[in-house]
Amino acid sequence: MTSSEPAPLLLPADAAGWRTFVTDRPAERRARVAAIDERLSRADDLSTSERLELWNDADLAIGEALAPSHLVSESHPDAEIRAAAEAEVRELEALQAGRLLDRALWRAFADADPAGLAADELRLLEKIRRDFRRGGVDLDDDARERVRLLTERDTELSQAFSRNIREGRREIRVPVDGLDGLPDDFRAAHPADEEGMVTLTTEYTDLMPVREYARDRRTRIALVSAYNDLAWPENEAILAELLAVREELSRLLGFTDWADYEADTRMIGSGAAIPTFLSRVDEVSAAAAQDEYARVLRRLQQDEPAASEVAIADFWYLLGTLKREEYDVDAQEVRSYFPFPRVLDGVLGVTGRLLEIDYVPVSVAAWHEDVRTYDVVRDGRRLGRIHLDLHPRDGKYNHAACFGLVPGVRGRTLPEAVLLCNFPRGLLEHDQVVTFFHEFGHLVHDILGGHQRWARFTGIETEWDFVEAPSQLLEEWAWDADVLASFAVNAAGEPIPADLVARMRTADAFGRALEVRRQLGHATTSYHLHVDRPDDIAAATERYCRKSSPVQPLPGSHSYAGFGHLTGYGACYYTYQWSLVIARDLLTAFDGDLMDPEVARRYRSEILEQGGSRDAVDLVEAFLGRPTRFEAYRDWLAGS
Ligand SMILES: [Zn+2]
Repeated sequence: MTSSEPAPLLLPADAAGWRTFVTDRPAERRARVAAIDERLSRADDLSTSERLELWNDADLAIGEALAPSHLVSESHPDAEIRAAAEAEVRELEALQAGRLLDRALWRAFADADPAGLAADELRLLEKIRRDFRRGGVDLDDDARERVRLLTERDTELSQAFSRNIREGRREIRVPVDGLDGLPDDFRAAHPADEEGMVTLTTEYTDLMPVREYARDRRTRIALVSAYNDLAWPENEAILAELLAVREELSRLLGFTDWADYEADTRMIGSGAAIPTFLSRVDEVSAAAAQDEYARVLRRLQQDEPAASEVAIADFWYLLGTLKREEYDVDAQEVRSYFPFPRVLDGVLGVTGRLLEIDYVPVSVAAWHEDVRTYDVVRDGRRLGRIHLDLHPRDGKYNHAACFGLVPGVRGRTLPEAVLLCNFPRGLLEHDQVVTFFHEFGHLVHDILGGHQRWARFTGIETEWDFVEAPSQLLEEWAWDADVLASFAVNAAGEPIPADLVARMRTADAFGRALEVRRQLGHATTSYHLHVDRPDDIAAATERYCRKSSPVQPLPGSHSYAGFGHLTGYGACYYTYQWSLVIARDLLTAFDGDLMDPEVARRYRSEILEQGGSRDAVDLVEAFLGRPTRFEAYRDWLAGS
């Protein structure tokens, strides 16, 4: 590695170092931004290119402070350090919002002469101008002050909402026979106490096996209810206020509602297009979902003759049971091929071959001893660095997601990104293998796309409803017999048989429409809570879910209080289906050969390596050689 390449970030080795890292380092970056802004506010002697370069310097400085603050707030084992990082996120988000309300800064770009700019400079100038207008710079003094207050309040409320979910671990106790159906290793890890009771927590490592395997309906309902109420009642009032803040903010900024404000910068283009898209999803999934529902209800009634409807707590158990009984796919047999260390090697090996990169383990300090760090290398050149924090612990983010750490700017900073997941240390469910590939899709997008000239367009900084497409695409590799056989090996040393994978694929098509309906329920909730702002959130959410999906919510539960995507995705949870339409279409280019080097290279160069430097619609068209179509998604829903 040559010395001219940007160096990786050096993370602190002890608590004192982390305290400085989350306070002094961002404070230094904020001071840099203040100096840049001072220069930009008397920009008359600067060319437009010079103004853009300065704006980029500030974007990079903010990113270098904001990304690690956000990561640390969700992952550091020390609650005080998490809190300090959260406070810094508030400072930085307020700084960002404040800059877009600053008339002197605005003049530097409103008055800038675009003549002679290169295409990428012109694109950046247009986006900056749009950001200022969306930020409220045109409003009068009182309105700008109100925007500032509301934006700060949005950040505070969003943080509190996430914190309550992160720290809202619940426990239930069930009698030993409530674990009937669960795998032996799970039962061994959950011994009974002196009263003969077993404690289960809402962490994924308990929740997922219980949802999948527990024969006792009371156990399933008790744990899923506890999980639904993870952050309730704390998040009830927070959510109500957040929705009010967003409504007022979007109106002040000249939009009909929050959905319209968010959609304005996404592929979908307008808030009104969201329900139109969701009704298309509704249309193509309704009939298949009814057929699937009749089958799962019949199966539930074999266990529970009095049951008149399938509840969400039954959903995964019934799908798993039918897959075992009717498709000869036994999830317990499947998981025997997925010991965690094998899966980790497999994900690294497969994505490494696909994208022609090597992951070189490096031994450096991180925020917890579980974190594994690798350099991403091609032809001896370091392209970035990744950190994998993959097992649950108290106070850590409790889902699965990719976080930025360093925004990559060509010749200046090396892109770094992090996975925060909650996988068991023993055997993984196949679903979790799929999740692992999904999150790796974000990770490689961030690293390979992290070599842009402008921080504004680096890595996953693309339209936010495109961002799930690369990750959903990569899920498909977890369903390929050859790919799986390269790493999925059981204790007897046997690779997963191709005929088992073939049965898994057939079985996977069953329940797909019901799962899409469940996602439709989330998307409807995310949209309508923001647009309708109901007085009774619990009743409205229950109504949205019942209307979207035949699988019923648990009565009296408050799943919205633990719906973490309501902060970041806001009204736009439709993103997952929108991106999936694109992902299914992208997959057609591989034409059944997922390791085809020529297609993989084209995918890498036309999509991943572009980051956000071009509009997503153009990236997709460049890769496919045609505009994207809905057909592949419809075929996938129909079971092919
Ligand atoms: Zn994702």
